[in-house]
Amino acid sequence: MARVLVVAEHDGKRLDPSTAKCVRCALDLKADALVVAVLAHGGDDVAAQAARLAGVTGVVLVDAPQNAVPLAATLAPQLAALAGDFTHLFGPSSTFGKDLLPRVAALRGVGQISDVLAVVAPHVFRRPIHAGNAVTTVEADPERLLVATVRLASYAGVGEATPAPIERRSLDVAVPGHTRFVARRESGGARPELMTARRVVSGGRALGSAEGFKLVAELADVLGAALGASRAAVDSGFVANDLQVGQTGKIIAPELYIAVGISGAIQHMTGIKDARTIVAINKDPEAPIFEVADIGLVADLFKAVPELISALRAQGVGS
Ligand SMILES: Cc1cc2nc3c(=O)[nH]c(=O)nc-3n(C[C@H](O)[C@H](O)[C@H](O)COP(=O)(O)OP(=O)(O)OC[C@H]3O[C@@H](n4cnc5c(N)ncnc54)[C@H](O)[C@@H]3O)c2cc1C
Repeated sequence: MARVLVVAEHDGKRLDPSTAKCVRCALDLKADALVVAVLAHGGDDVAAQAARLAGVTGVVLVDAPQNAVPLAATLAPQLAALAGDFTHLFGPSSTFGKDLLPRVAALRGVGQISDVLAVVAPHVFRRPIHAGNAVTTVEADPERLLVATVRLASYAGVGEATPAPIERRSLDVAVPGHTRFVARRESGGARPELMTARRVVSGGRALGSAEGFKLVAELADVLGAALGASRAAVDSGFVANDLQVGQTGKIIAPELYIAVGISGAIQHMTGIKDARTIVAINKDPEAPIFEVADIGLVADLFKAVPELISALRAQGVGS
């Protein structure tokens, strides 16, 4: 029977919502054990949050100074050791998980199934291919540890329940010294995290400059939304590349997605196909984004967006 280990993503204080989504996916395995691994330094709070996730049968807390920052090179050997007691290791298909899980798979000498979007059976999964334009079913060897990343856009997070027990573990594992933490720079400031935000406002090439992009940022802030961007906007240097939405950026599933001055290229749409409501503002009525938008506004964004911001503020939104 399946025993699943889910690695927790966190910032040392707060459990990232991606962990609740991985747990939701893991529940479909109907496993005997569903344990969350918290690798942290001073991680009691994070472990307590993980223990409250519905469906979790236990939490393993590895509390050590080396886990104060989430360096994949440091975490991977520890996770590889912990995974020895399990049949499955799941993690989020976020930057954190995409950096960490392949290293664990390599250390354990197994492959990885990336971007699981549905569990068919304990070793049979569905995942997207061809930039999300097709879905394939893959089967893994049941005799080996199964390492997988979970496509976050495909799962809602589990809620809370009676806390599961927390076990503190110390590991006798050598961690490599070749990777050193230098600094952490977070973009977006107080804005919600792009991959888990309920609302996202994205801007494209049409904004013209980093200065112009501030208009999109202002709309995002009024709506309490995360900020996103097309690749053209990122490549033009308007915003940092961690805001890119799409095939080679982030795959997101917000309740509301507002695309401002974005044409709707297939590679961009790959990133938002699970968005519930798509609003597009574009001056070209033939722009492909209007084919998928639930609400479309054919307008010059430099006129429409300030008007929208004023109207929202007049109604008390964002004040
Ligand atoms: C392998 C590969 C991977 C890629 N991955 C990604 C990805 O992850 N994400 C991504 O976004 N792209 C990706 N791309 C690039 C993608 O093909 C497009 O080039 C890109 O999405 C275009 O960005 P854009 O819509 O901002 O710019 P454009 O296509 O130039 O569109 C700008 C839009 O703004 C409108 N506009 C102009 N002025 C105004 C105005 N004043 N008011 C209102 N509207 C206006 C125009 O009508 C136009 O529709 C990838 C491409 C390749 C080949």
